[in-house]
Amino acid sequence: MEAKCSECDAQINVPDDAVSGEIVTCPDCGLNYEVVKGEDGVSLKPAESMSEDWGE
Ligand SMILES: [Zn+2]
Repeated sequence: MEAKCSECDAQINVPDDAVSGEIVTCPDCGLNYEVVKGEDGVSLKPAESMSEDWGE
């Protein structure tokens, strides 16, 4: 399926076999999204950059 980036409106390709929690990246702006599987199908939610806050 395809989803739209909320930042730049680019099309993001989400594999049909993507699992919940999988990270997909916008090809245009590089924003990371987490795949969320719900009753209505697959949606994306913005994923915070996890690596940067892990220092302390
Ligand atoms: Zn984008």
